[in-house]
Amino acid sequence: MSKLKNKIAVITGGNSGIGFGIAAAFKNEGASGTITGRNEATLNTAVTALGAHFIAVAGDVTKSSDLENIFKKTADKFGNIDVLVVNAGGVVDGVPLGDITNVTEEGYDRYMDLNLKSAYFTVKKALPYLNDGASIILIGSSAAHRAAPGMAIYAAAKAAIISLAKGLSLDLLSRKIRVNALSPGSIDTPVFGKLVPEEHVEQVKQSWIDITPVGRQGLPSDIGNAAVFLASDDSTFIVGTEILSDGGLTNIS
Ligand code: NDP
Repeated sequence: MSKLKNKIAVITGGNSGIGFGIAAAFKNEGASGTITGRNEATLNTAVTALGAHFIAVAGDVTKSSDLENIFKKTADKFGNIDVLVVNAGGVVDGVPLGDITNVTEEGYDRYMDLNLKSAYFTVKKALPYLNDGASIILIGSSAAHRAAPGMAIYAAAKAAIISLAKGLSLDLLSRKIRVNALSPGSIDTPVFGKLVPEEHVEQVKQSWIDITPVGRQGLPSDIGNAAVFLASDDSTFIVGTEILSDGGLTNIS
């Protein structure tokens, strides 16, 4: 199992949920690299679990200086980067999602900053450190295709991620850098504890299982396996598109 042998990867938000699942799958396929996040305690736990081939660099992806530091530290340790996974995102701490009557202008900006603007600038800040032929994977969401109550801003930001994959692929064609979106359906991660009180988490997860045709939530490893494919040389003809890993949520009703 060495589809990513000698590849250097950066996975933003690699200290939790889907990002950690991707990092673990990459490690199993022989990659080395960097995981990021703001929470140093979960970063330390995650990097210890990944072992010697990974480092942790703390940083906030909405801050340019933190992004520069992430890529510089990676290059100092490993050299240039082959795979960039733009995964950090989701819930903005302390800013509830909700229907349009409850959302403030500040809340709108913060959701867009985390789920769209930071993705664009993560790619931009990585460019000087990316090898030609690199693979960039932008984590989208099935929410881009299937409306859910109170999720309009998040869904719009994730829909734009698909457009970024298409447009950035053209921008980066001369360097043979591929950009694709990988969009999860409902995946069992700590995000549910950020969305609803602890006593409601299992009920909300069950409600997603009920509407997912395969009858289960996805696991971070499901997304990790798809990310390995997009990161590897098995997918060099896949450029500027979206792969959904959602158990049929958006395609089978
Ligand atoms: P988690 O809440 O488990 O992970 C979110 C990750 O993003 C954490 O590593 C967190 O690290 C990081 N993060 C959040 N804000 C920032 C920030 N400002 N700067 C740096 N890092 C940040 O959620 P998931 O694993 O579920 O989500 C990962 C991605 O998958 C997100 O983009 C989400 O939108 C997407 N997704 C998830 C789905 C699901 O069902 N779980 C479905 C579809 C898409 P830290 O807090 O340490 O900063």
